[in-house]
Amino acid sequence: MSEIWRAVPLTIFPEMFPGPLGLSLAGKALGEGKWALSTIDIRDFATDKHRSVDDTPAGGGAGMVMRADIAAASIDAARGAMPADTPTIYLSPRGTPLTQARVRELAAGPGVILLCGRFEGVDQRVLDARKVEEVSIGDYVLSGGELAAQVLIDACVRLLPGVAGNEVSLAEESFAGSLLEYPHYTRPREWEGRAIAEVLLSGDHEKIAKWRREQAERFTKERRPDLWEKLKGR
Ligand code: SAM
Repeated sequence: MSEIWRAVPLTIFPEMFPGPLGLSLAGKALGEGKWALSTIDIRDFATDKHRSVDDTPAGGGAGMVMRADIAAASIDAARGAMPADTPTIYLSPRGTPLTQARVRELAAGPGVILLCGRFEGVDQRVLDARKVEEVSIGDYVLSGGELAAQVLIDACVRLLPGVAGNEVSLAEESFAGSLLEYPHYTRPREWEGRAIAEVLLSGDHEKIAKWRREQAERFTKERRPDLWEKLKGR
């Protein structure tokens, strides 16, 4: 069984991985063995010579549906290679919206098995029979679950110990608490007639913290009244 945090995408496009996860922070950490990726090709579980994984929808209508038996075989294979408490997630526009709180929970666990849908989606019976959690990355429809899986993996990997390298910035960023993050500035001091707020140049850490808190509150109130209302209701 794996000791390091492991992502196991189940996909008919294994060549899409690691994709962007092979670069930058996540890619460096992957190379250093701080997390692992074991992509499984769902077509390896097909039973016909064409390696087909889909069929026409029961009841008629457009598109194709991923077969329950083949998706289940890929889930069972992944589960057999992962600790028993590894969550299995189907990326789906119908799922519970992904939040930083759920990302934190997933990053604290052994890893995640991610079923990437294609076509019209996956036969509902496999989701019910294998008790698969459904997670959405937003209210829009992608053509497949692979990019959504990569979003989820990236969000988890940057929280793993030793990956981000700056634990302070993780504690202060958007959604770490209940607020969006304050705005950032750097040199030059003045650019196109826009000066950096004097307080940020004052060296007074208490005043700077107070100013940042006010800005974070302003951004949250203006941009995410839903979060602001929740915060006030506590
Ligand atoms: N027929 C589905 C519906 O209306 O809900 C959409 C299927 S979509 C074309 C194909 C696959 O992309 C889905 O099975 C899912 O795995 C993935 N997908 C699309 N949008 C997504 C989203 N917002 N979040 C997570 N996964 C998504």
